[in-house]
Amino acid sequence: MKKKTVRDIDVANKRVLLRADLNVPFAPGTATISDDSRIQAILPTIRYLKKRGARIILCSHLGRPGGTVVKEMRLAPVAVRLEELIGEPIVYVRNFEGPIVRDLVSELEPGEVLLLENLRFDSREEQNDPEFAQSLASLAEVFVNDAFGVSHRAHASIHAITRYLPVVAGLQMERELKMLSSTLENPASPMGAIMGGAKVSDKIDVLKNLLHRVNLLFIGGGMAATFFKAKGYEMGRSPVETERMELALDILRDAEAQNIAVFLPSDLVVTHEFSADAPYEILPVDQVPEDGYVMDIGPATIESFRLGLHDCHTVLWNGPMGVFEFKPFTVGTQAIAETLADLNGAITVVGGGSTAEALEELGLTTSMNHVSMGGGAALEFLEGRDLPGVAAIPDKVSL
Ligand code: ADP
Ligand code: MG
Repeated sequence: MKKKTVRDIDVANKRVLLRADLNVPFAPGTATISDDSRIQAILPTIRYLKKRGARIILCSHLGRPGGTVVKEMRLAPVAVRLEELIGEPIVYVRNFEGPIVRDLVSELEPGEVLLLENLRFDSREEQNDPEFAQSLASLAEVFVNDAFGVSHRAHASIHAITRYLPVVAGLQMERELKMLSSTLENPASPMGAIMGGAKVSDKIDVLKNLLHRVNLLFIGGGMAATFFKAKGYEMGRSPVETERMELALDILRDAEAQNIAVFLPSDLVVTHEFSADAPYEILPVDQVPEDGYVMDIGPATIESFRLGLHDCHTVLWNGPMGVFEFKPFTVGTQAIAETLADLNGAITVVGGGSTAEALEELGLTTSMNHVSMGGGAALEFLEGRDLPGVAAIPDKVSL
């Protein structure tokens, strides 16, 4: 059943409280936004609402101010960037309640945007406090949740608020839910899942939820070390989660029982220290020395993953193949990204904050069908869990 969206309601002249995820990164020690994609991502919903004459009250959190006012975490730089992108002035108010806010809201004309201050300046936001939610709700007639990336949190502006205002999904939320749920529920098969990243423990629930849905499973990244160690290989000084080794074997057994083709690396890029400029060699998986670190997947692995991926009609990818933050060890992640970019007629869906970051650095974000901006929320969704913010949005009524 699809969630009700902003398309399903009449917003003309209405005061609409729009929850966005404007939690943008800044260049260290400055007020310069280093990546504005979260601001860009809210623009379609803002434009949609403006065009239909809604009075838009935009709100978000920024960083972790911990329930008090932190000057550096004001939304002022976001307001400035938003104005540039919208091409019109917006009203930015350094508060989210009180008479000044109420006056400014009541003066809003159709199509105008008002941005409230960082909601996490008030500790009641993260406490999912009903009074705080009610105070926000009193500003508007309808609530639009377009903050998928925060919807795994039961916070006042995500969850409690839905008790006081009718709620619908924004356009970005709609797209996230559509792409992620169609990948889980009715993917074009064969479906492949590429799993990587640092730890098995972060991904175990995703793996479990995907096992009965995928036909091919590719395992890379740091977590491959735990699988190999469990299979009896030496992994040197690479981090291994000893307490997850049994689970790793369970997953391999389950996969085999379900006829899933499992692709584990056959060769690895190995260094003798964990650093960006360490000399490296390419070694078969059974030849990692005692003092070795596994930094990336090797060329033979890339080739075998590439062949497997060419059979897929749907690919879900979560987790980099190597320590992509170090330039020499981006190769595996880049090769996988390029393979997906070149896949003809396959749907490619990517989740995970670091994976999205890697794609952005490689300039390949737009070569995927969907790159979730949801970070941790996307992972919880892929684990098959109900997200409080999403669960609170009613389904479309079908007549
Ligand atoms: P996502 O945020 O996309 O879900 P993760 O946070 O699980 O991904 O994983 C990203 C991290 O995994 C990166 O910081 C990367 O350096 C790390 N990583 C990938 N491969 C390795 C490896 N072989 N050894 C150590 N860390 C790795
Ligand atoms: Mg991460």
